[in-house]
Amino acid sequence: LREQLLQAQKMESVGKLAGGVAHDFNNLLSSILGYAELALMGLPAGHPVVEKVRHIQEAGEKAASLTRQLLAFSRRQLLEIRPVDLNHLVEDLARMLQRMIGEDVILRLDLDPSIPRVSADPAQLEVVLMNLAVNARDAMPEGGRLEIATAAADLDPASAPCAAGMAPGPAVVLTVSDTGIGMSSDVMAHIFEPFFTTKGPQKGTGLGLATVYGIVRQHDGHIEVESAPATGTRFRIHLPAAREAEEEEETDGEIAGPLRG
Ligand code: ADP
Repeated sequence: LREQLLQAQKMESVGKLAGGVAHDFNNLLSSILGYAELALMGLPAGHPVVEKVRHIQEAGEKAASLTRQLLAFSRRQLLEIRPVDLNHLVEDLARMLQRMIGEDVILRLDLDPSIPRVSADPAQLEVVLMNLAVNARDAMPEGGRLEIATAAADLDPASAPCAAGMAPGPAVVLTVSDTGIGMSSDVMAHIFEPFFTTKGPQKGTGLGLATVYGIVRQHDGHIEVESAPATGTRFRIHLPAAREAEEEEETDGEIAGPLRG
């Protein structure tokens, strides 16, 4: 538990640092991209420099997409929170996930129909699932099984998620498991840090799980990972159940849930 607290504190400071850097970096990138655009406008078509300026633009846009992910990780984004049926969300996303993981990976859903709704930004939860699915696919180059499960939970104060800062009470557990290459405990200790990747700079950005971590934290949830080399990996995400007041608001037809930043 002490370990988890330290990890949470570390991620908090990494997040602040990354968010600050990303913010300043974004401003610089806007200026680079703006001047590249101006340079292009001043060049006659077919000029040999045009192609070079286009490369600057492409690199700049890639960098901008990286900083966007970093900003998401550092919780500077506004969430559109409302009561969400996780089972529906998973079912709706299943086809796209299957396409992402390819034919050699079997997608299995194990959805508990009795789960309460969660207070969440559904678009952000989709980002979580997509990032976890892409990692699972990368961990199963020869194929395998990806399982997404939901279950109801009632968190008591002594549970690991509560010890790490989650409020006790009704919650939902979203489990994403694969039968892939797994990871060592050395790797596991760093996976949520931004820019940590074992996939090499060509293939990995190291931002997928940092983003997932940031989103889960922003939802007042908790994420934990279990993994064994050559056996597979399981991510367990706890999300607090939507409060009844929010549920009522929605059945009244009002817009539920304030914007949270
Ligand atoms: P990236 O995918 O760009 O490397 P991530 O932050 O998504 O960045 O993941 C960080 C690292 O965590 C990966 O490089 C990999 O070593 C490890 N990892 C993540 N998910 C899995 C998984 N399902 N199985 C095995 N290793 C994983």
